[in-house]
Amino acid sequence: MSNTKEKISIVVPCYNEEESLPLFYMETTKVLLGMNEVDYEFVFVNDGSSDKTLEIMKKLHDGDAHCRYVGFSRNFGKEAGMYAGLAEAEGDYCVIMDADLQHPPTLLPEMYKVVSEEGYDCCGGLRCGREGDSVLRGLFSKAFYKISKGLTHMDMSDGHGDFRMMSRPMVDAILDMKEYNRYMKGLFSFVGFDTKWIEYESVERACGETKWSLKSLFAYAFEGILAFSTAPLKLAGLIGCLLFLAGVIFISINLIQSLWIPGAVSSFDIIITVVLMLGSLQMLFLYILGAYLSKDYLENKKRPLYIVRERSQ
Ligand code: UDP
Ligand code: MG
Repeated sequence: MSNTKEKISIVVPCYNEEESLPLFYMETTKVLLGMNEVDYEFVFVNDGSSDKTLEIMKKLHDGDAHCRYVGFSRNFGKEAGMYAGLAEAEGDYCVIMDADLQHPPTLLPEMYKVVSEEGYDCCGGLRCGREGDSVLRGLFSKAFYKISKGLTHMDMSDGHGDFRMMSRPMVDAILDMKEYNRYMKGLFSFVGFDTKWIEYESVERACGETKWSLKSLFAYAFEGILAFSTAPLKLAGLIGCLLFLAGVIFISINLIQSLWIPGAVSSFDIIITVVLMLGSLQMLFLYILGAYLSKDYLENKKRPLYIVRERSQ
């Protein structure tokens, strides 16, 4: 009887979550046990934690047949953790959840209803508010989503996170994209499939602290734009043209002026300004060009996204 039930896989990437993980497991299990109509499994991914996260996963696996785990050989980042978890998951539906209870498990029954009964392939949690985030991070996120929406034409908004329940076809579509430089929010949008958003209030982390520094967030945001848009390259061309035009106008005006009023413009000033302007712009665009080339370079190496050191069973 039980094997006719649909199965939900809860994918949980974890990096140093020894405090949160037991709490997360208890709270989520409570909710899942209340969903009599489904079977479930936890796929914990230990992303090279330096604390007791892996030991806790092993204990959970020993005590509960619903728990499986994969342990990486080092910290590969949340993107690799999510991919590994989805690749391991066996469920008809998969949900990606953070271990810190910032993704409320109480949303799972409604999410399941949406994907199993309402014909959606995905039900995402739409985060309202910014409880648990610094003001700076909030401002940064808002600006990033505005810019990236304009540049990438992907449906990525502030509040759309990785917390979503997806059907098997959508999960398989995501797994089919094996690119090395991964940006999951963009990939979710790229694969399409109908998504329904349900709101939830953002809360502070249950324990521990965020693994994202402002620097790593900035790098991740830049990654997102590079992964889904070549607009910065086009921007380089556009600014180049405008600057060239401005240069021509600037020089023409100065030439005409110096014809009427001798000595009005110092040629030294002009040369220094033009050289500095062009030099700095060239450096900036060389950097953008280099960034794309380095992405391609890594992509062509076909390195594995992650390396598993051990696993349950
Ligand atoms: N995480 C991970 N690898 C990392 C960083 C984070 O697997 O290198 C996990 C982390 O353990 C948590 C989730 O990703 O389960 C979200 O991380 P965090 O709470 O630090 O991010 P925030 O909520 O601040 O965006
Ligand atoms: Mg968090």
